[in-house]
Amino acid sequence: MNQAPTLPDLLKKFKEYSPKQDTALIEKAYNFAQNAHKDQKRESGEPYFTHCCHVANILMDFNLDADTICAGLLHDTVEDTGVTLDDLRREFNKEIAHMVQGVTKISDLKFSSTDEETVENWRKMLIAVAEDVRVILIKLADRTHNMRTLEYMPPEKQKFKAYETISLYAPLAQRLGMFTIKTDLEDLSFKYLHPELYQDIKSQVEARTADRQAALEQFKAALAPALAKENLDSRILARAKNYYSIYRKMQLHHCTFAEIQDSLGVRIITKTIPDCYRALGIVHSVFKPIAGTFTDYIATPKANMYQSIHTTVLSPTGDIIEIQIRTEEMHKTCEYGIAAHWRYKLGNVKQDKNFDEKISWIRRWIEWQQDLTAPREFLEGFKTDVNLQQIFVFTPRADVKSLPVGSTPIDFAYAIHTDIGDHYVGARVNNRMVRMDYNFKTGDVCEIITRKNGEPKRDWLEFAKTANARSHIKRFLRSKGMDL
Ligand code: MN
Repeated sequence: MNQAPTLPDLLKKFKEYSPKQDTALIEKAYNFAQNAHKDQKRESGEPYFTHCCHVANILMDFNLDADTICAGLLHDTVEDTGVTLDDLRREFNKEIAHMVQGVTKISDLKFSSTDEETVENWRKMLIAVAEDVRVILIKLADRTHNMRTLEYMPPEKQKFKAYETISLYAPLAQRLGMFTIKTDLEDLSFKYLHPELYQDIKSQVEARTADRQAALEQFKAALAPALAKENLDSRILARAKNYYSIYRKMQLHHCTFAEIQDSLGVRIITKTIPDCYRALGIVHSVFKPIAGTFTDYIATPKANMYQSIHTTVLSPTGDIIEIQIRTEEMHKTCEYGIAAHWRYKLGNVKQDKNFDEKISWIRRWIEWQQDLTAPREFLEGFKTDVNLQQIFVFTPRADVKSLPVGSTPIDFAYAIHTDIGDHYVGARVNNRMVRMDYNFKTGDVCEIITRKNGEPKRDWLEFAKTANARSHIKRFLRSKGMDL
């Protein structure tokens, strides 16, 4: 059992990443929650309050702000003690009370096996997240600690929690780009869903630890001279093994652990984007690349913000090495996901104008699904993740809009502003004039040209793909008395 962090531990950790922020509120939340939970115990026999400290500690791993840390300490007070939301509003602030309320709401949801209820619960969850993303960060931290201490729960409850975690919370963490938490939740669930298989894979992975370490050292040694010669500032890390993903691979290919090509996973972390491409060139000059394995998620990021260059090479001894190349900043985004963007939004690091755009899929999803009555359709839609079919297009001032694949300049114009759409006369993409049927690629920079007396035409409807653009065009045409 991990010792729960004490108040000085927590304050010290917070000060490390937020030296200028006042910690008085955290101290107050700590004492308040400790007092509220004073008569409660966990299944492990420990004071209940230790759970709250662990949750706050996990939130600090993501360098979150003081309000979120307070809400983490207080997250179970309303549900499990006599404390009310009014108390929290009075003693702390509206934001903290609102976050605790969101977490409490999600905890009430029962993820049963019927489609109807599952869909309804998904909806509620997404709405809470859309209101304040920090709610889900607290919930994920809460679930992570509960999964770490699941051994104290009765066996049926273990299986149920594990199932809920792997089918709901892990995918959500992935969708929010929080890969560290996602992997953690998957492996913890796997351990309770398939205990024997888990132990088996774990011990086989551990048996090969020394081999993998040696392979990593060889890789570093082979690459070091070339990197030094090019003056490339970087660090090389081995990737931890995800037991659950090994299990999935075995299932997918119907094979045993021994039959799986046990590849070495390596990350090269550089300072700048150009250095990523230079590192790629160096890797390919030292090792033989395996054809068809190269993917550039830097030029074309995934919708969950993931960015890296992927390539697979063969070592001189015939080992397969899977390589991810990324900058320090991309690496942080991969670990923190949406939490990293929350910090940017607070202005601690820098303004991230793109934050809202990046979580806009949640809002869009809720809107799209409002009329969808068939739960099966909703679930299937969510699983195939239509939102991954999004592309990102930039304005000349580097604002970003995400649009469905197949979108055209008129969609982009209306995505910026109704006025821009209504007065559209043309578009320049990457400094070239394009036709109205131009299909965007992610990374395109588009400038919309407008004219004061420009106005929507009927044939625009042939090119407009988004509901937003189409409804504005139709509204205008109807206002001119045109039949549609
Ligand atoms: Mn809790």
